[in-house]
Amino acid sequence: MRKKIVAGNWKMNKTLQEGVALATELKNTLAAEKPNCEVIIGTPFIHLATVSELLKDSVIAVSAENCANKESGAYTGEVSAAMVKSTGAEYVILGHSERREYYNETPEILKEKVDLALANGLKVIFCIGETEQERDNNQQEAVCKAELQGSVFHLTAEQWKNIVIAYEPIWAIGTGKTATAEQAEEIHAYIRKCVAEVYGAQAADDTTILYGGSCKASNAPELFGKPDIDGGLIGGASLKAPDFKGIIDAWK
Ligand code: PEP
Repeated sequence: MRKKIVAGNWKMNKTLQEGVALATELKNTLAAEKPNCEVIIGTPFIHLATVSELLKDSVIAVSAENCANKESGAYTGEVSAAMVKSTGAEYVILGHSERREYYNETPEILKEKVDLALANGLKVIFCIGETEQERDNNQQEAVCKAELQGSVFHLTAEQWKNIVIAYEPIWAIGTGKTATAEQAEEIHAYIRKCVAEVYGAQAADDTTILYGGSCKASNAPELFGKPDIDGGLIGGASLKAPDFKGIIDAWK
């Protein structure tokens, strides 16, 4: 049975003190009412060690939002996968469209990051998804497949077990526009088919595929109700504990 996951992506939001306050609120909320899914919060690098320590005995796992494509050395300002792992974080989000677009992260660079993350014992939430123009041209399947082929389909079957896919249509991220549950299900089923072609039916069935893009408490139940949607990667709505909890509750 594949894992159901609700993962937050704080992006470049929250000072350390604000992040600690949010993580504490979430921890207390979920201690009082156990979630029916795995819960992950993706925080900026500087929060990782403190938040990981704070959430050590909780049901919440911690993720970085990025890591370097180099192992170590003279790369000023970069943070390696080994450093992320040493904070206690379990996951790293890679391939987010904001990283691809604003920081020129190519499929080759992402492939290096994925390899280093896995080699250092992190699990990877790997994001894929098309632009609005690509959707208008009905290219969403080709785009998703190419992004998988470019950065993760070289992995071994053993490595694949540590990959979570997040389908995030770029036109739905932070825009308030959500893919309909039918649109999302259609492409999730296609992504699972692509995974089956490379890793076999069982591995595809075991792969968690998240939806991301203006997901909120009001639309999460319908999205998560689809057979190939295994949860969500949540940006804006992960920044307030009640909003995030509302999405987690969609699994009830
Ligand atoms: C994201 O950036 O991963 C995301 C899904 O953002 P939002 O929920 O704000 O659309």
